[in-house]
Amino acid sequence: MSEAMLTPYSFIKVALPVPMRTLFDYKVPKAIALRHELKPGMRVKVPFGKSTRLGVIVALTNHSDWDPEQVKPLTAMHDERPVITQELMELCEWAARYYHHPIGDVIFHALPVLLRKGENAEFRTENWWLTTPEGQHFSLEKLSRAPRQQDFLKAVQQHPNGLSQQTVSVLDLAPAAGKSLEEKGLLRREPRTFNKGGEKHAHQTQVLPTLNPEQAIATEHLLDARHHFNVSLLDGVTGSGKTEVFLRVMARLIEDGKQVLVMVPEIGLTPQTLKRFETRFNTDIVLMHSNMSDRERLDAWLLAASGHAKIIIGTRSAAFIPAPNLGLIVIDEEHDTSYKQHEGFRYHARDLAIKRAQALDIPVLLASATPSYESLANALQKKFAWLKLRSRAGNALIPEMERVDLRGKTLIHGFSEQALAHMKLCLDRKEQVLVFLNRRGYAPTLMCHQCGWIAACDHCDVNLTVHKRANKLHCHHCDTQKALLHTCPECHSEELFTVGEGTEQVETQLSTLFKEVPILRIDRDSTQRKAAMAKLTQKIHEHDQAILIGTQMLAKGHHFPNVTLVIIMDADAGLFSSDFRGMERTAQLITQVAGRAGRAKKAGHVLLQTYHPDHAAIECLCNLGYEHFAIDGLAERRSLSLPPFFHQVIVRAESGNEQEAMQWLSAMRNDLEPLFSKDVYLVGPYAAIIVRKAGQHRALISLKSAQRAPLHHAVQLMSDWLEQSARQHRIRFAIDVDPLET
Ligand code: ADP
Ligand code: ZN
Ligand code: ZN
Repeated sequence: MSEAMLTPYSFIKVALPVPMRTLFDYKVPKAIALRHELKPGMRVKVPFGKSTRLGVIVALTNHSDWDPEQVKPLTAMHDERPVITQELMELCEWAARYYHHPIGDVIFHALPVLLRKGENAEFRTENWWLTTPEGQHFSLEKLSRAPRQQDFLKAVQQHPNGLSQQTVSVLDLAPAAGKSLEEKGLLRREPRTFNKGGEKHAHQTQVLPTLNPEQAIATEHLLDARHHFNVSLLDGVTGSGKTEVFLRVMARLIEDGKQVLVMVPEIGLTPQTLKRFETRFNTDIVLMHSNMSDRERLDAWLLAASGHAKIIIGTRSAAFIPAPNLGLIVIDEEHDTSYKQHEGFRYHARDLAIKRAQALDIPVLLASATPSYESLANALQKKFAWLKLRSRAGNALIPEMERVDLRGKTLIHGFSEQALAHMKLCLDRKEQVLVFLNRRGYAPTLMCHQCGWIAACDHCDVNLTVHKRANKLHCHHCDTQKALLHTCPECHSEELFTVGEGTEQVETQLSTLFKEVPILRIDRDSTQRKAAMAKLTQKIHEHDQAILIGTQMLAKGHHFPNVTLVIIMDADAGLFSSDFRGMERTAQLITQVAGRAGRAKKAGHVLLQTYHPDHAAIECLCNLGYEHFAIDGLAERRSLSLPPFFHQVIVRAESGNEQEAMQWLSAMRNDLEPLFSKDVYLVGPYAAIIVRKAGQHRALISLKSAQRAPLHHAVQLMSDWLEQSARQHRIRFAIDVDPLET
């Protein structure tokens, strides 16, 4: 008791990265309270079970619901300053409530990996090598019998400001030689803080293009609206000058001393885009994406948090980056599904960013050539300002879309004669063709001619994809890989054949048809290695004639100025999907890919190969364009009471046992349904489309409602029920609010 009297707060409420939707109470020992000023957002070490865990203080309080005797004291403080600002703490708390996700997991997700692991929130210090006064003029000849030391000393002598550890490894110098020189008193080491802040990029004064009338109107609107919260949807075809508009707006905010967060899709940040930012702004730009090391990400995070970095370009997780002077959030390609996290903490970075901007009273700019139905609905209801760019910037023309009827036609390696003829003409003009097929690998199926056996994944209800180049069978759902088989495991026949085609096969076959033409494949397999994509794009720019073949990776962000023909090999894929979002996704993908054609001075042509040329959707998309297509699609969603008019939550359960997940969700439904509001509609439990994935049998239950409140109430009841009962069963569950997949 006396202890509590001495400290300003007796207890802290701590978030821990555990799957429990609760905070944990700890006592503040007197010794710690006297030496530290505890604040929410600081990390602490606390006893948990039999071990000590790192947690984050969420609140300080004088009251605990638990018996004070039972509450354990915290072990130690980990930070002197909060690593989570109050603003971000509130965002995390909101997200935990909205997404029904454990608060500890949300808070830890908001931190860079190294901070989750206990690294200090400080720039790294690196040892730099410097010469001593003696070493500065030491004759290198005296080291002729120690060539490594000679090289090392020579390099340091040539760098009067010192040699960083990183340069030492770039120059391939031997660290042991450096140590020997240190022992001889010729070199010394000095720790320096790594801080990229202050380092400027190759800024160039540019002559900016004169904005066309639509761009000018959009820019003016955004500049007028820049002081308060509001959301604008910048809706313009690819190449209509959206980026130019937001660069102008960003420039003004940076002049105002603000920071700007630009969110980009997972693989949407191209070297070209980055270059455009770097040459445009005379300011620090930090990147935050999944191809960076944990240390690089922490450094980027620190630069943003310090306010030095005026521009932060990042993927999904950058929605949580601290930025004390944040003045604008731009979400490029806002329709992209990589903004939604598909496992664990299933948040949507766009929605979260909008929430964040609202709390900060700053504007949000969403940009897309194919806005999501959600955003279009908001624009139609005037919740978002709808800024349209309908013509292409400069003189570029809108590509023409043409359907190619495949019915009854002879196909050559999956191409109609018409498509091949167009390809030839295009290549003869020394222009480039883009072939789109959203299926990587050589073939989606391997079959036995004698017995009909099909190579299937042992852990999932799917077939294995054939990858000939890598000589493998690969499951695209659980990543299982095995050597490519040449005899049937059932009947030992050697007559195995592939069915269907993927990008790898199309690449091989096109190279036999167009022997002289460079063929470049762009998909997840060909771009796995770091910098592979940059090399590929460079090659594309080097050649005049070329065939590019790729998956949806091609639909993202790239500028291929010499592509004038786009061939969509299989426009029907996705059209008959069981997912009500299938149409939206297909239309977005086709429109985005088509938008790669004719971006510069030359007009583009798009061919859609289809067995359903009269299908209303394909017809509408070709003749009337995406906006019209989407508005029709929205009307259909409204009539069917689907999102975005109804709000949806999916509860997913999975178990190693075939029946268990299904039975469990049924039991929950029986227990809870009487407690739900009449405004909540329940469907299920039903089996997932691919029931078994990575050895887990998956079932789901879907809830929807026109109002959020009753839906959240129902989900709260479910979440409590599931958490209670999951402890007794070996079942995993996930709550997916505003799901994008079924
Ligand atoms: P989007 O982001 O909509 O794809 P961009 O802003 O990248 O469009 O513009 C496409 C191309 O047109 C870029 O090369 C850009 O520099 C150029 N551009 C943009 N606005 C204009 C303009 N008003 N006049 C001339 N060229 C422009
Ligand atoms: Zn067989
Ligand atoms: Zn699998």
